[in-house]
Amino acid sequence: MDVKNLMKTYPQLEAMARAEEIYWTNPDCGCERELPFGMKDIDDAEARLARFAPYIKKAFPETEKTGGIIESPLTEIPKMKAELEKECGKFGGRLFLKCDSHLAVSGSIKARGGIYEVLKFAEKVAMDAGMLTLEDDYSILTAPKYQELFSKYSVAVGSTGNLGMSIGIISAKLGFKVTVHMSADARQWKKDLLRSRGVTVVEYPDDYQKAVAEGRKEAEGDPYCHFVDDEASQDLFMGYSVAAKRIGAQFEAVGITVDEDHPVFVYIPCGVGGAPGGVSFGLKEIYGDNVHIFFAEPTHAPCMTLSMITGLKNEIAVSDIGLDGKTEADGLAVGRASVLVSDVMKTLLDGCYTIQDEKLYPFLAQLADTEGIFIEPSSCASFPGPSQVAADEEWLAARGLIGKMENATHILWATGGSMVPEAEMRHYYERGKK
Ligand SMILES: *Cc1c(COP(=O)(O)O)cnc(C)c1O
Repeated sequence: MDVKNLMKTYPQLEAMARAEEIYWTNPDCGCERELPFGMKDIDDAEARLARFAPYIKKAFPETEKTGGIIESPLTEIPKMKAELEKECGKFGGRLFLKCDSHLAVSGSIKARGGIYEVLKFAEKVAMDAGMLTLEDDYSILTAPKYQELFSKYSVAVGSTGNLGMSIGIISAKLGFKVTVHMSADARQWKKDLLRSRGVTVVEYPDDYQKAVAEGRKEAEGDPYCHFVDDEASQDLFMGYSVAAKRIGAQFEAVGITVDEDHPVFVYIPCGVGGAPGGVSFGLKEIYGDNVHIFFAEPTHAPCMTLSMITGLKNEIAVSDIGLDGKTEADGLAVGRASVLVSDVMKTLLDGCYTIQDEKLYPFLAQLADTEGIFIEPSSCASFPGPSQVAADEEWLAARGLIGKMENATHILWATGGSMVPEAEMRHYYERGKK
């Protein structure tokens, strides 16, 4: 790879290589193009999750009040808004937190895509065995004969932590044998929790890419093993995208209008890209150019930013520009972007920015102090976004957004946190207060 030449063509790469924070807007955003999937794929995923709701409700009683639908609140955070504006610059409009940090079952955004992919696999296995039809009440899947059926199959995944939690918990509950290949960044408590639920956890001294590669290798050639491929899975992607179909009712409930004069801005932390990509794809399908999407990444692992700026998709890794990929934001510790997502986002993503690890903890503590909401460090990567976007007058003018920012809705998409053990969370909080 001719890195010198790349840096000449894309000068921001030099700052990235020094692990400095950058902010970039995408010149290709909004270009017309055919995408590999569309609304009917989102509808299909939504319908499947609805079929499984009676099962989820029975298997995870915590989801009783939502009828077995795993969904998170959209919460206005005005006190945090005041703090952010004071510290990072004014941005106007209203500020919300989308609390995927508090999704039922696995406490992170992975409860969308990860659970969806395993449910889809279970549905196929049960239908192929002649034990399930579309008309059945899926709560029958809690019966021992299904556990027996599923126990002949295994599920494998490579993960930095939260995807493993989501895949591990749902797979073990259904009765599958499940192996989670964990990278070195994964937190100990996540490994412990999975083992306590009967999940096989294999640890690697290397990074996330290696964990995925090992998982893939183990699954290859085993027709009874389903490998959840975080770098390329369309099922994961569709599971995430369903969020966009459900947010409309939440907008209505809090009086958010989405149209040309009332833009919505979504800021979402990005690792390999699947979760933020799926959510964004859904939002763009439904709200078009009235929603603007920005991805946030750590300065030491900005794989999607690098991929988008250079247009090289998964052919470039952060190590190519000399970065170590090490970050406290364990959910974002990924060195190479998903090929599927970097392709789809090429014309959907409005921009990216990066943040230093040290800033995550003060944001975490501020959110706790102002709003009483606790989220994990990775989840805080998006927080400087609204101020940065509002300060970019050139971009606002180019997008016809000048004069509309007072009507804007800003959504920080919180991606994980509710399963963090109390002692661990206290430690994060105290670090942020220093
Ligand atoms: C997985 C994860 C992300 C990013 O999702 P990707 O699909 O890896 O891009 C962000 N935040 C948290 C807490 C996560 O666990």
